[in-house]
Amino acid sequence: MRDFSEAPFLVIWEVTQACDLACRHCRASAQPERHPAELSREEGIELIRQIRGFGDPLLVFTGGDPLKRPDLFDLLGASVSAGLRTTITPSATPLLTDSAVRRFRQAGVARMAVSLDGADGAQHDGFRGVKGSFRITMEALRAARECGLETQVNTTVTRRNFHSLERIAALAGDAGARLWSVFFLVLTGRAQLEDDLAAEEYEAVFEQLYRISLAAPFDIKTTEAQHYRRYVAQRRKAGGAARAGAPGGVIGRQAGINDGKGLLFISHTGEIYPSGFLEISAGNVRSISLVEAYRNSRLFQVLRNGDALGGKCGACEYRNLCGGSRSRAWAITGDFLAADPRCAYVPAGLAAAEEGTAAQDRFSARAVS
Ligand code: SF4
Repeated sequence: MRDFSEAPFLVIWEVTQACDLACRHCRASAQPERHPAELSREEGIELIRQIRGFGDPLLVFTGGDPLKRPDLFDLLGASVSAGLRTTITPSATPLLTDSAVRRFRQAGVARMAVSLDGADGAQHDGFRGVKGSFRITMEALRAARECGLETQVNTTVTRRNFHSLERIAALAGDAGARLWSVFFLVLTGRAQLEDDLAAEEYEAVFEQLYRISLAAPFDIKTTEAQHYRRYVAQRRKAGGAARAGAPGGVIGRQAGINDGKGLLFISHTGEIYPSGFLEISAGNVRSISLVEAYRNSRLFQVLRNGDALGGKCGACEYRNLCGGSRSRAWAITGDFLAADPRCAYVPAGLAAAEEGTAAQDRFSARAVS
């Protein structure tokens, strides 16, 4: 497992909060207009220089919709020139033209990720709040394939689409995606409780993902469902079949990554967060060093300490591989070190302790009867 105390594996920069969509679950509570205090072009270039100070982490340009920034291609060029593997997550709006996709490729972007939350137009567009978004998504994937730009499909799993995952996976495969990134809800931004799944349903989705991964032409990773790694580890331990390298390969690369641990998020106004779903700031890039905040802030240090976890995550033998979603713990309990409320697993140590307590209770009950 990698040591993330010095540098993140992944840096996500929310270049703008502006977006023309109005998705049901939007983390960023995106708005049509750019924020007046958004980082400027010059501040963005300085930020890229600081990110390079970590070495060569993967840099994701996200939003809002990055295409809402007129200087986007200058910033992408600066990132690529700095030697960072640069990826982008544009929104599926009329701004995402064939020409924009080709410009990503020409700018040296390594991968474009688009969201696909339904298996057809009605389901996807209902989710995204704008008619025609599904068609634009599929056309962007086609345009990327034609110009040789690698793609990733992002899907947010909710109560509305978890029965359609096989069909969404088939679309991603047909489109030639290299990675399917499956997001699980964190109740922040516009996300709603009624759309979230119960812990047992997470396990059922994990089983679906695991089965799909055995034959899929793409890798699968989860976002804010770190316990999928525990699920895969359990399946592998139990002798479940797995084709060489998958899902173990991507799971291996993701092992231990969590909010603030191998992962860093910079907001459109420069706030340094452990992730986009955990909006607790370690400072602002306008006033403190990004590298310093990641390595030495109390917030990031405690998030990287598996022994600081509370509840059953703290007692779990998978805590260094998984650790539970710190963002979800924060959103639901107000304590970012608490157990992930959407994990159904009972750690072995905890089960033994509970069995010990139950046996003691039975003994005591017999003694007094
Ligand atoms: S109890 Fe916590 S650390 Fe263990 S598998 Fe569940 S979420 Fe992960």
